[in-house]
Amino acid sequence: MDCLREIQGKQAHDPIFVEKMNTLSSRRCICVPGPLIVGAGPSGLATAACLKEKGVPSVVLERSNCIASLWQLKTYDRLRLHLPKHFCELPLMGFPTDFPTYPTKQQFVHYLEAYASKFHIEPRFNETVSQAEFDTTLGFWRVKSVGINGEGTEYVCRWLVVATGENAESVVPEMEGKGEFCGDIRHTSLYKSGEEFRGKRVLVVGCGNSGMEVCLDLCNHNARPSLVVRDTVHILPREMLGRSTFGLSMWLLKWLPIRVVDRLLLIVSWLMLGDTARFGLDRPRLGPLELKNLSGKTPVLDVGTLANIKSGDVKVCPSIKRLKRHAVEFVNGKTESFDAIILATGYKSNVPSWLKEREMFSEKDGYPRRPFPNGWKGENGLYAVGFTKRGLLGTSMDAKRIAQDIERCWKHEAKHRTAFTRSSS
Ligand SMILES: Cc1cc2nc3c(=O)[nH]c(=O)nc-3n(C[C@H](O)[C@H](O)[C@H](O)COP(=O)(O)OP(=O)(O)OC[C@H]3O[C@@H](n4cnc5c(N)ncnc54)[C@H](O)[C@@H]3O)c2cc1C
Repeated sequence: MDCLREIQGKQAHDPIFVEKMNTLSSRRCICVPGPLIVGAGPSGLATAACLKEKGVPSVVLERSNCIASLWQLKTYDRLRLHLPKHFCELPLMGFPTDFPTYPTKQQFVHYLEAYASKFHIEPRFNETVSQAEFDTTLGFWRVKSVGINGEGTEYVCRWLVVATGENAESVVPEMEGKGEFCGDIRHTSLYKSGEEFRGKRVLVVGCGNSGMEVCLDLCNHNARPSLVVRDTVHILPREMLGRSTFGLSMWLLKWLPIRVVDRLLLIVSWLMLGDTARFGLDRPRLGPLELKNLSGKTPVLDVGTLANIKSGDVKVCPSIKRLKRHAVEFVNGKTESFDAIILATGYKSNVPSWLKEREMFSEKDGYPRRPFPNGWKGENGLYAVGFTKRGLLGTSMDAKRIAQDIERCWKHEAKHRTAFTRSSS
């Protein structure tokens, strides 16, 4: 318990410190010797595993009752990894060889469970971090959590790793007349399957990967989906020229400038999918990879929805003007009846709601201010994992860097402590 020893050392000599420590005593207080990781999704698990491998113990706090809660509790049944498995594996452990190229969500969850068990990661479940602040007097982070029965705990730690994800909270847009609409309105995080919408007219709002896939699922369950497309969008086939589009892009980028790769992707997409603008899906001015780099907007990898749009099984609609009792009025003046609305309107980070720090994280969007690949490290032992807008590939890169950095500090401090113990004995 090096942290404890350090705190005891300070306690003996520093009156301000003693006063500070006394204010902690109203809630249960736990000194964490190594880093404290907030979030037990893939990012938190990957960081804990990389640290473990280097001999650094960590504590993981998770607000829900399981690991990978986004995948286990908030995703639809037919979900598979959007990218081939070798781009999604976490450090130090690959996917089982008998998994398909695009594992199902159940397979991905099994992989994560095996991962947590291999590295003996046992998160403290049902603990929501409500506040974290660096205490300049203590020289430590003070992290407050709340349990399901409202019980509070305060953790004191030297290193704080933010792993709460880019998808911590659902984004639910304001819509005029929302209170009037009689049908079901729900975010995709609560959508499981098209089964319960069989025969119903469903409006899906948002044409990212989730919105497109929910439309396909609804078609497969004989529902009648329409898709609101407000913005331009790049739709690419999931595979081209016998390889995954993502893998091919990564490979081409090794040899060619991004604009040339974008051109090639768009030519092949045009040959395979036709002109998507003909079906109401205009392409952005920038190419798919350049747009992703500049704005983080991910291209849609088509898994079959486009065929349903072409056949008219999925109808494309413009933006919503207002909702009525049983219908939706669109900005083009047309009104159509719907039984349900599914909001595929994405997610946002929740970091500004609990982390009292404004240097590293932006208050506006809850992402690190410094762009990839430099957003993983802040001041005073603060780290961010999984905020790269680059999915699990970004997570792995962050986790390895963070573990290396903390290990260096951990070993350096251990050496000093040993020298200090020797000279004072
Ligand atoms: C439908 C969908 C499909 C996707 N498919 C892919 C894919 O194929 N490939 C890919 O690379 N990426 C994909 N992604 C991106 C996805 O975000 C990552 O794969 C991955 O889940 C990110 O891991 P994470 O640990 O950073 O965040 P999350 O998985 O969101 O985990 C964060 C954890 O932190 C917890 N938490 C949040 N706030 C607190 C708090 N205050 N206190 C305590 N705990 C807290 C949450 O409960 C959660 O368990 C997909 C995302 C979605 C939504």
